[in-house]
Formats: sequence, C-alpha cells, structure tokens
Amino acid sequence: METAKELAKAILHKAPIAADKDPAGTEKAQAFCEGYKAFLDAAKTEREAVLEGERMLLVAGYRPYVRGMELKAGDKIYYVNRKKCLLASTIGTRPLADGLHINAAHIDAPRIDLKPMPLYEKDGLSLFKTHYYGGIRKYQWVATPLALHGVVYKADGTQVTLNVGENPGDPVFCINDLLPHLGADQNKRTLADGIRGEELNIVVGSLPFADEEVSDRIKLYTMQILNKQYGITEKDFIRAEVCAVPAAKAADVGFDRSLVGGYGQDDRSCAYTALMAEIECKTPSFTTLCVLTDKEEIGSVGYTGLDSDFMLNYIRKLAIDFGADIVDVLENSRCLSADVSAAYDPTFPDAYEAQNSTFVNRGVALTKYTGARGKSGTNDATAEMMAYVMGLMDEAGVVWQTGELGKVDQGGGGTVALMISKLGVDTVDIGVPVLSMHAPFEVTSKADVYNTYRAFAAFANSNR
Ligand code: MN
Ligand code: MN
Repeated sequence: METAKELAKAILHKAPIAADKDPAGTEKAQAFCEGYKAFLDAAKTEREAVLEGERMLLVAGYRPYVRGMELKAGDKIYYVNRKKCLLASTIGTRPLADGLHINAAHIDAPRIDLKPMPLYEKDGLSLFKTHYYGGIRKYQWVATPLALHGVVYKADGTQVTLNVGENPGDPVFCINDLLPHLGADQNKRTLADGIRGEELNIVVGSLPFADEEVSDRIKLYTMQILNKQYGITEKDFIRAEVCAVPAAKAADVGFDRSLVGGYGQDDRSCAYTALMAEIECKTPSFTTLCVLTDKEEIGSVGYTGLDSDFMLNYIRKLAIDFGADIVDVLENSRCLSADVSAAYDPTFPDAYEAQNSTFVNRGVALTKYTGARGKSGTNDATAEMMAYVMGLMDEAGVVWQTGELGKVDQGGGGTVALMISKLGVDTVDIGVPVLSMHAPFEVTSKADVYNTYRAFAAFANSNR
C-alpha cells in the first residue's frame, strides 16, 4: 500500500526550492552572477547594453551580419539596429525553413529622461527638467544618487557620450524631496501622487557665473562647464538622449549572498542570460536568434521596439540568403519571450494569489499568459507550447516554476510575446522573478537567474 505521503509526491505538484532540488547549483549560480552583476553595471541603458553585448559577441567570434555573406552551420553572426537593439544568431545544421529558436529579451528599463530643453535656474539652483520613461513609482526616485548617461550630438555631427556618476570621484545628481517637518500638505496626497511628474527635477549645480550683470548666472555657469568639458551648447540637448539612472552598483543582498540587488534587472536578467546561452551555443540543430530589444517599457513602439519589423526584416534577409520561404521559417519557429515576472512579496501578500505566484529561489518562471482585465493584451501560450518548454526544462534538470502576475484584476502587464506571436511564431513568456520590479533597486535570486540561463541554453541547443 502506498502511503499518503508517497501518493502526494507522485500526483501533486509544488515547485521545489532550487537549493533542495539542485544543491550543486547554488555555487554555480554564485559564480554565474559575478558576470551578471558586471553586465548590470556596464549596461544601464539600451545603448550601453548593445555596446557591452557587441563586445561580448566579438570576443566569442561573432561577425557582423552582411546580406549574402557565406554562412554554414556553427557560424555566429550579429546585427545592430540603430545602436539600440542587438540580434545574434548561430547557424544551425537543419534547414532554415525548419524554423528558428528565438529568445527575445528587452534592454531598456524604466528611468528618468531629460526633456529636450532641460536646463533651467530657479531660486539658487540649476536643474534639469525631466520626463520619466516607463512605469515608475515616482516617489522611489527622489533623495537617491543618480548618474547621467546618454549621447549628445553637436552641429557638426560629432557624438558626445555622457556617463557621469559611475566612477569613483564622479559627482552624482539627485531629485530632492520635501523634509518631513514641512510635509503636512504633501502627506495628504495619495502615494501615486506623492511626487508628481513635474516635480522630478534633477539638481545639477548651484554656483553662479562670476558676473553679476547677466541673468540666470547659475544656469550659465552649469552650461559653461558642460561646454568646456564636452563642447556642447544648450541647443545640442535637442539632438540628445540623456537619462538619469540610479548611480548605485549591483550588489549581493543578504548575509547568505543569495540575492542580487541592482538597477535594470527588468529585463537585463533575461537579456544577460539569453545572450550567454546564445554565445555558448556551439553547433545547434535549429538556427538561433537572440533578440535584445529597446522600447518594451513603453509598449514596444517605434523603430527600435519589437512592434516594428526590425526582427522580421532580419529573418527575411536570412531566409533570402538561405533560399527558404519566410512563411515556412516563421511557422516553424519557436520563441521564448524572456521577461521578468513579479516575485511574491511576503510583505504585500494581498496583491498576489500565492498558489499561482512565482517565488524567489524556485527557479525560472514559466508564464502562460500575462495581460490584464480578463487576459486582455496577452499572448496566451498554447498547452502544446507549454508542454514543449516544460519537457525541455525537465529533461535538462532546470529548476522552474509557474505563476501569473498577481491576483486577477489587481493590475497586470504585457511583454514582447504579443509582437512575436503576431508573426505566427509559437511563443511563451519565461524569465526571472523580481522583487521591487521597476524600482531603482530591484532584487532577484541568483538561483533563478542561473536557472533562467539554463532554460535558455536547453532551448538554444535543443534538437526539437
Ligand atoms: Mn520587462
Ligand atoms: Mn518592465
């Protein structure tokens, strides 16, 4: 007779804790996440993620893709879309018409962008006006050190790269908040309204230009420093992309160092793992396509977002090179839409439904659907696609779990899955669970990051 315990083990399911299921993985995850933390520090914007990714690809022997180039199984190529999206492939042994194994993550993250005319002076300070990018909780971005990253173009076409606040000795920047002593009125606002969009002004200086005859002397002095240091003028900010991001570096969290804290882990935890799986894939059966895209945080719009055709055009070009029918290629392709999930937070249990939530340290999160209000705006992966990915992961011993984004009707969200499934590609969401998602300091589990990498590697190397 089976005991109840044996029966339960045989027919009931609960996602295991990674350290229990794969004890040896704990140390491997620690080592893997050293590279991950370095990537987070090197790649705080999508442009920097492309540069760092391209550097890693070149070291690994990838060549820039040129239409019509000679390509054979095992060859590694990459393509950059407008300095903000990175596509990388390893050519497979099977015909291209058999489809691609696509792994798509995004490399933009919520942040504070400068307005086109940012610099102004008010009551003894010079400041930058900003327009936030993506879904931020504005109150989290005040009274914390910020770094400025970006590019500015001069009239002669020269590109100036800005990166201030990252290196020892650099100045940092900040958005001020009201002191509690004078917070009586502000305290009556709702949390969502506690800091308003037009209150996200960044302090960049306070000294005046040494001539009392001119007006806006503090603004002038700040601009003079920028002019001397970078050769730029106020007008050049109009042809620029500069943003403020948290100045802090990625760090281990906890006495046991089991967690990683840092900015932009949505979605660089999936971008790094996807890129590493791509790089380490040798001669796969199916041609791989690792896509690191921009603009997911604002709806995948624009010509660097996945709702444009930049990925499709890359596939079109490959199809022509290999004499494959693009329809066959797409219909036979599969995609892991690699994006983070909301990790269950024990401090805020009311936002989640525990049985269908993802937890830190229970491995990579497989998510059948996202969306909001009755699954609106989701790619709802088929049971067949779920079976395929579960099979791959179980075979490879990947620690994984499943869950959805919080309670029904609590909120919701979307990913790039929609844009890829639109092409007729079998697609499912999968990625790293994150605590404090979209905050300046997000938290993930090293075991989950590592198992996400292992899932992506199993997919890249799969012969089915
Ligand atoms: Mn994301
Ligand atoms: Mn996000």
